[in-house]
Amino acid sequence: MFARPRVVVSRCLGFTHCRYDGSMISAPEVRALEEEVEFHTVCPEMEIGLPSPRPPLRLVGEREPRLLQPATGRDLTDPMGEFVSQLFLSLPPVDGFVLKNRSPSCGIADAKVYSSTEKGTASARRAGLFGGAVRERFPDLPTEDEGRLTNRSLREAFLTSIFALASLREAEVSGRVRELVAFHARYKLLLMALGQARLGELGRIAANPDRLPVSEVFRRYQEAFRAALTRPLRRPSGANALLHAFGYVSDGLSAGERAYFLETLAEYRAGHVPLSAPVGVLRAWIVRFDVPYLAEQRLFFPFPSSLLSPADSGQGREPS
Ligand code: SF4
Repeated sequence: MFARPRVVVSRCLGFTHCRYDGSMISAPEVRALEEEVEFHTVCPEMEIGLPSPRPPLRLVGEREPRLLQPATGRDLTDPMGEFVSQLFLSLPPVDGFVLKNRSPSCGIADAKVYSSTEKGTASARRAGLFGGAVRERFPDLPTEDEGRLTNRSLREAFLTSIFALASLREAEVSGRVRELVAFHARYKLLLMALGQARLGELGRIAANPDRLPVSEVFRRYQEAFRAALTRPLRRPSGANALLHAFGYVSDGLSAGERAYFLETLAEYRAGHVPLSAPVGVLRAWIVRFDVPYLAEQRLFFPFPSSLLSPADSGQGREPS
């Protein structure tokens, strides 16, 4: 049913005791994905030859921070840069990244930056050297840290993206445009929820009216599809897509059921409930009325149900 996403993950997130103090982070929200995701683990600090345990590193200097090891006086900025270049050259196509937060190497946004190697001089936060390089090299791939993945909305948005990209990658490997057309059909309502303009643009690319080579069609589609996924789902277009789906089941519903759905949809549109509220209601009716067109729509079934988890950090953040 689902292609297996390929995800690069910080090795200390439950895989190896490779942190500066010889520990490992227990990251159940990451390890829970293992059954369905192909992980490529990486520990940039060990890849540049540091042991575990080791004296900690820190970013020093606000404009172009250096990666320093205050206890030894070593500057590891250049070895880290060389490692990153080599990794990017050897990396197979991947669908996303999960990196350790707050790390001067892996952090994607929140590593402390110090003005000197002296104690207590943290002055700002930014991406670590590896995390920052990932964001620069792969700006349109889903990239999260383990802290953000404890938020249900962010986790589900991340899972939706990596499973979509893995499926598109699988279609590309087939080398057949008809696989792309089938992919586009499965993602039609999800794209509609992301915006009618994107749906139209991607539909035109998949239809290939200019008879472009298959590789060029996939390249264009992939670029536009990734760009579509980087945008947060907006409630008005999300509601439009759900209303469109509702049209397929509404004839079989009672007046009370129809009113209940429209009320839930209005609450979603107003920002009072998450997307999963109206989606959950529709999902039940898709099963009840056996509507194949909706059953194959990834808007309703975007990733394996085994990864659905009610656990939430409760911080209520929307994807951004
Ligand atoms: S945060 Fe990154 S560099 Fe630090 S231990 Fe984890 S994987 Fe290694």
